[in-house]
Amino acid sequence: MHRSHRRSRPLGIRTIVKTGAACMALLVAAYLLLIVWPQPFFAHRTVHGIYHVWSDEPIAPQIDAVLDDVTRRLRTSPLHDPTRPVEIYICNAPWRMWVYGMQFSTRYGGIADAWLTRHVIIRASDIAANRIVPPGPGPIPDAEHRPLSYFIAHEITHVDVSRRYGRAMAVRYPKWLVEGYPDYVGKAGDFDFDANRARFLAGEAALDPTRSTLYLGYHLRVAYLLDRRHWTLDALFAHPPAAADVDYWLRAVQ
Ligand SMILES: [Zn+2]
Repeated sequence: MHRSHRRSRPLGIRTIVKTGAACMALLVAAYLLLIVWPQPFFAHRTVHGIYHVWSDEPIAPQIDAVLDDVTRRLRTSPLHDPTRPVEIYICNAPWRMWVYGMQFSTRYGGIADAWLTRHVIIRASDIAANRIVPPGPGPIPDAEHRPLSYFIAHEITHVDVSRRYGRAMAVRYPKWLVEGYPDYVGKAGDFDFDANRARFLAGEAALDPTRSTLYLGYHLRVAYLLDRRHWTLDALFAHPPAAADVDYWLRAVQ
């Protein structure tokens, strides 16, 4: 006669690891669902042209004027397709910036998910005033040149770049190009090249990306190559020169 004799034993390491891995996989899957389908968690929505705007707070009617200004800015980019819909999520609650921005920070104006969803995430905003709500007590740096419409156009340009030059553009191309071009499009000509070059030559911190969170120094390189040297955008992305070379040319230009 065979007697099965099983004693209860403490959980084995393998069981614990398996259970842990299954829980992690579930959490990752749940997070991916949240990222890919954020709509149920944003109670307010408006559509204006190609723009589908979602927010966790009521959307002021001035959004239409803000988005028209975004369109004006995006017209400066040959990469932009004015018929392709764009999804924009305004995250007024800080936790939403954490979850949907995937940055573990709330101290930035906006972000585009160029890898997966191509959604644009924008921080808390005062739509009626066409500005983002600063993360700190004072105004954001360079506030007069960076209204809310700048941030939206900047982030949409990241998406446009990823569509043309690949989802890996952020790792494939130098940061001065990856951020300089969206700044160039986002500003839509609201950039005094000679004045900013003079600030660069004078060693101003605002033009030095190692000492500033602004992209003015990156923008200066892009504006120089596109507007002064008349490079095409495809040529610029095909063979981006070394930053040190562009800075050398900027110093040498008459
Ligand atoms: Zn950017």
